[in-house]
Amino acid sequence: MWRGRLEPQAIIWGGIFIALVMVSLCATVLYEGRLDAMERARETSRNLALIAERDIERNFELYALSLQAVVDGMRDPDVLALPPHMRRQVLFDRAATAKYLGAMLVLDASGNIVIDSNGDIPRQGNFADRRYFTVQRDNPDVGLYISDPFRSRLRNGSPSIALTRRLSHPDGSFAGIVLIAVNLEYFHTLFAGLSLGPHGSVALIGRDGVMVMRQPYDLRTIGRNISNASTFHHFRSAPEGSFSDTASIDGVRRLYLFRNFPDLPLIIMVAEAERDIFAGWRQRALTIGSLMVGFGLGFVALAFLLGAQLRRRMRAESELQMLARTDGLTGLNNRRTLGEILDQEWRRARRTRSMFSLLFVDIDRFKAYNDAYGHQAGDDALAAVARCIGENIRRPADSAARYGGEEFVVVLPDTPPAGAELIAEQIREAISDLAIEHAGSEYGRVTASIGTACWVPEQDSDVSAVIRAADEALYTAKATGRNKVSTFSSA
Ligand code: GH3
Ligand code: MG
Ligand code: MG
Repeated sequence: MWRGRLEPQAIIWGGIFIALVMVSLCATVLYEGRLDAMERARETSRNLALIAERDIERNFELYALSLQAVVDGMRDPDVLALPPHMRRQVLFDRAATAKYLGAMLVLDASGNIVIDSNGDIPRQGNFADRRYFTVQRDNPDVGLYISDPFRSRLRNGSPSIALTRRLSHPDGSFAGIVLIAVNLEYFHTLFAGLSLGPHGSVALIGRDGVMVMRQPYDLRTIGRNISNASTFHHFRSAPEGSFSDTASIDGVRRLYLFRNFPDLPLIIMVAEAERDIFAGWRQRALTIGSLMVGFGLGFVALAFLLGAQLRRRMRAESELQMLARTDGLTGLNNRRTLGEILDQEWRRARRTRSMFSLLFVDIDRFKAYNDAYGHQAGDDALAAVARCIGENIRRPADSAARYGGEEFVVVLPDTPPAGAELIAEQIREAISDLAIEHAGSEYGRVTASIGTACWVPEQDSDVSAVIRAADEALYTAKATGRNKVSTFSSA
């Protein structure tokens, strides 16, 4: 209930509310920090992917040009007529000596090496079983073909890929192929140079789903077909994009960024592990978050403390107020409170044109009782009589007060004279029934006399007149024998 001042409950709920607002504000800020970290990681990955893609594209462009030069040379009878070492110099320019090139070879229609960039006498070898050979043999229109990774037979099984082009006779029939073998070491070195955090991963994948190179490097992953992995389906869904997923190869959750090469059947994938992306953020979030939660809890505890304090103070206050309103000996309202009650009742009765009654109760021969039994016994008797009066007024609006000494006043709202007399008679009888021995009384026990008076709307008298009237009636009761009820009549 709101009584125009701060309630303990309001303080506690207010404290909890403020703490919740603080904590949720902090959570929002931290969440945005997380999104920022994600966005930064995406940007970094994209830049790395672009760097790798440019490098690979530029190199492959050179390889393609070199292949084309050999194809053109092989069509030129003058070149073919040159002695072997001259022919080699013309066909294979200096690109053939580039760092990661395994070899440039010309194979005849049955797959045997006929010209070798490594020496005037070609090494022995037949590659008719390789797919890069059969694809060109069986299909005149392949153009530049990039093979899946394989283990080189000429270089102790070192992992390589080959770029091939078809050689045709003038009539269009198959004459063999030209091939450049690229050592996968090239991609390995390229990817190792990209810094992606301890759990990051970079991969180059063929559009058919075959892994060409992957960082962290593991020979077993090279050549593996991942076309069934969920990540690969993402790679093929758009030219470029990013998403979060768990890798099928090592079970680490990463933020993937992929790009399909515009001119090559390759996909570059750069993936930073989420635990690396959020490492700094997590540390910060943990510190700030726990501080904030601690702060919020402290705030709530403080609110509880304040609320409890306020509740204690309010209880003490209302206790004091109660004490100030009641009589210490009897627990009934004191005279000051009676004044307020009477004033209130009188106003209400005037306003609503209703009546109210007043009883004036006075213990008979109480001085004698005190003299005979002592002051303490007198006090006890007073308290017993007061309790008796309190018990005999039942309606919530009725009230009793100690007027002073051994005199009590009972206020009965909306009660006509007959009703007041009835209650007065009940009280008188109940006091007598207490049967407190009183040798000095003509009744041998403690009794009381009661005068009653009633305020009716027709009369214009004020409260003190009603009290006087009740007092007068009491006087009559005393004068006519005590232990009786007398009602005031103006006659
Ligand atoms: P009556 O029948 O005419 O009322 O006689 P009474 O002796 O009761 O009349 P009176 O008013 O002269 O005496 C009241 C006595 O009540 C005086 C005092 O001894 C006693 N008294 C008043 N207040 C207290 C109190 O707080 N405690 C005790 N023990 N006695 C009180
Ligand atoms: Mg008296
Ligand atoms: Mg008396």
